[in-house]
Amino acid sequence: MKNKVVVVGVNHAGTSAIRTLLTQNPELEVVAYDRNDNISFLGCGIALTVGGVVKNVNDLFYADCHSLEALGAKVSMNCDVLSIDTDQKMLRIKDLNSGKEFTDTYDKLIYAAGSWPVNFPIKNKDLGNIEICKLFQHAETLIEKANDDTIKSVAVIGAGYIGIELAEAYHQKGKKVTLIDMQERVVPAYFDAEFTDRLQQDMVSEGIELVLGAKVTEYQGKDGNVKKVITTKGDFDADLVIQCVGFKPNTELLPKAEKLPNGALIVNSAMQTSIPDVYALGDTAAIYHAALKRHAYVALATNAVKTGIVAASQINGVEAVKLESIAGTNAICVFGNSLASTGLSEEAARQAGLKVKTSFFTDNSRPEFMQTADKVSCKLVFEEDTLRLVGAQIGSYGEQSHTECIYYLALAIQKELSLLELAMTDVYFLPHFNKPFNFILSAIMQAVGLDYIKK
Ligand SMILES: Cc1cc2nc3c(=O)[nH]c(=O)nc-3n(C[C@H](O)[C@H](O)[C@H](O)COP(=O)(O)OP(=O)(O)OC[C@H]3O[C@@H](n4cnc5c(N)ncnc54)[C@H](O)[C@@H]3O)c2cc1C
Repeated sequence: MKNKVVVVGVNHAGTSAIRTLLTQNPELEVVAYDRNDNISFLGCGIALTVGGVVKNVNDLFYADCHSLEALGAKVSMNCDVLSIDTDQKMLRIKDLNSGKEFTDTYDKLIYAAGSWPVNFPIKNKDLGNIEICKLFQHAETLIEKANDDTIKSVAVIGAGYIGIELAEAYHQKGKKVTLIDMQERVVPAYFDAEFTDRLQQDMVSEGIELVLGAKVTEYQGKDGNVKKVITTKGDFDADLVIQCVGFKPNTELLPKAEKLPNGALIVNSAMQTSIPDVYALGDTAAIYHAALKRHAYVALATNAVKTGIVAASQINGVEAVKLESIAGTNAICVFGNSLASTGLSEEAARQAGLKVKTSFFTDNSRPEFMQTADKVSCKLVFEEDTLRLVGAQIGSYGEQSHTECIYYLALAIQKELSLLELAMTDVYFLPHFNKPFNFILSAIMQAVGLDYIKK
């Protein structure tokens, strides 16, 4: 049977899908459209380039349309998909170079149109030097402004992981940085106060002006450029403002599909939406969240790549490749704090109505007889009745990062394990690396009342 696959959006999710589709089945007809002029740009490297760690922003690409065409795909860049008729299986597309519109048809549609930074209504938002952070094009602007000596002060709005990374990067470039958020803590969605208190202290002692619990009400400018950010907690100088207040899925082209309230497309473990033959990937999709036991929106590159592999495999008949659940595993490395979390923070779990308890444990990473060690903290969030693990956070403070232990905690959440099952994981002990009761096991022992290892 002929199977023409059309891919809408060719960034991380679309690229992953195309590579998998054509590696598994080189004969498949794959046509792809993207409104941008570049693909596979790693946004995670923007702050690293602004701060000077990454020397060349062009190193943040890992594929281009030629590499996908070499696999057999027909990739059309600068082509905006204007509408999709899922009854007729037809798309209307505009070539942004020529201005011409045309149509195409599909047997299977892979929808990977991603997300866009949330815009908020605010007075004087059209002033110059008010930026967002998503694309390669934004990266070029943000890097240029980091090296512009006339820009002395930077206000970052939104203290999620992108906002904090940018705050650190502009601070490293010698700018006076103000980080503003409506919430009372930084990265509140992922980390509880045991971790954010220390991070906030480290930020402030480095010289970042942290303005929390404050609403931005207005921008003020001079000669067409922004100069001040007005908030409910005072006014702050800003020659450059970067708005980082979250992402909205680009899903308006599929109005009939089942969605979450934020517009994310609800998918099953095969990445199928509620519309036949339409698969949704990456930042467009709401995936079953193992801790919440319902669909949730977690916009991360990790999910983009996985969902691409799953949808492609399903289309090619490799049905064993599924994504049953996610746990929302993430990490941040800023101001000397290496943090990772998975599942729900205590605050998020309580907000979701779960009855949880927690165990927080701080220790040296390896035995004291080894002379040197890193400080490591672990917080486990678990259901009171069942001891099911629903969240974990690791803070690693020292030479080595111990954050990768979060992987097995993520698997525990995805497999719905209890603390007792997790405690029996066959982990190693070697003095060079860890303690016989490592910091995760110690947190579990504390949770179940066997806290005799505590000094
Ligand atoms: C600054 C920054 C840092 C990040 N850091 C990390 C990190 O450290 N770790 C991590 O896991 N994730 C990180 N992320 C998140 C990650 O980048 C996203 O989850 C990922 O880009 C999602 O990939 P995607 O392909 O689903 O969507 P997108 O990257 O949004 O790509 C969607 C594509 O669809 C195209 N498109 C949209 N609409 C249309 C249309 N109508 N017609 C044609 N084309 C269209 C767009 O041009 C785009 O190329 C970061 C994101 C940013 C912005």
